[in-house]
Amino acid sequence: MAYDHNNIFARILRGEIPCKKTFENTHALAFQDIAPQAPVHILVIPKGAYISLDDFTAKATPAELDGFWRAVGQVAREAELVTGGYRLIANHGANAHQEVPHFHVHILGGRALGAMLTKT
Ligand code: AMP
Repeated sequence: MAYDHNNIFARILRGEIPCKKTFENTHALAFQDIAPQAPVHILVIPKGAYISLDDFTAKATPAELDGFWRAVGQVAREAELVTGGYRLIANHGANAHQEVPHFHVHILGGRALGAMLTKT
């Protein structure tokens, strides 16, 4: 599957549509989810064109991997989620219901999040 350069997160990276940015470094951008499912719901995306975690971990450079994952940790710290706890979600493909085909990690927190998966 080829990367779709017109997906919504690619357009956010190009500045074509706005986002509520919370953090940025050389290799990653973090912004608030448009439909938050917890008091804190932030998405972290790499700046490179990667479809999902599978694509990212197969092809990203060490610098991209380092910059991205350090951004995830820093965003959670800056959102003051470390003490209370938080959850990361990275959906890959159809079974996981990935909607946007640009790799992203959801950071969720700010309340007790309950069981890891629903039974449906
Ligand atoms: P996923 O199902 O893992 O692909 O999640 C995609 C996420 O992107 C959902 O939580 C959406 O609410 C979120 N989303 C879609 N469009 C935007 C947007 N323009 N700005 C911020 N978040 C978005």
